[in-house]
Amino acid sequence: LPKHVTCPNCSGSGAAPGSQPETCPQCHGTGQVRHSQGFFQIAMPCSTCQGTGQVIKKPCPRCKGQGIVEERREIVVRVPAGVDTGTRLRVRGEGEPGEHGGPPGDLYVVLHVEPSKKYERQGQDLIYTCEISFVQAALGHRVEVPGLKGPLPLDIPKGIQSGTLLRLKGEGMPYPGRSNRGDLLVEVKVLTPTRVSDKQAELLREFERLESESPLDKVKNLGKKLSKKMGLD
Ligand SMILES: [Zn+2]
Ligand SMILES: [Zn+2]
Repeated sequence: LPKHVTCPNCSGSGAAPGSQPETCPQCHGTGQVRHSQGFFQIAMPCSTCQGTGQVIKKPCPRCKGQGIVEERREIVVRVPAGVDTGTRLRVRGEGEPGEHGGPPGDLYVVLHVEPSKKYERQGQDLIYTCEISFVQAALGHRVEVPGLKGPLPLDIPKGIQSGTLLRLKGEGMPYPGRSNRGDLLVEVKVLTPTRVSDKQAELLREFERLESESPLDKVKNLGKKLSKKMGLD
């Protein structure tokens, strides 16, 4: 980053090498001039030396008497695991130099985390969408979901509904500076086939027929008929 640093040519004094800043003749080195106004004396910063108490007769050619120069510096910053957009990292002593050779300030690095193509992030939890067929949803299925450290086996229980979230504890983002992690949530998405062959259609109709004749449905239908007859509906 572009950074103001103490001029290496004059060590920040602003005076050309071999010369010294001199005591300001206007304020005699106090940096202030006093004006009397009635009873009051008002102290103002000296305009000759801008309140520094010193004047530079021969300014440093590199920094033109400013004592600081701008340079580009590469600063290596270690990003701890688990940071998120908006996280501020403080780098001590890498800010602007202090005035008149004072200690430098700190550099704050504000992070912006690019969204992942694989996961949706909610704090330290990650959401991964897993697509399965309706047959797999009905019968149960073992899948492999991509974890942060490698593939993770996951048993999808039979009869699962689309949109159900399955939780893999401790497989999410690490909490910065801590040993624990968020969870990986697997959102199960049940895919409906968009094209079925004649044979498949036949089997599905058969499935539908068996389903409507299930003993439970028969009891339900009977119950409905009865309550209609008795005027309870
Ligand atoms: Zn200089
Ligand atoms: Zn002065």
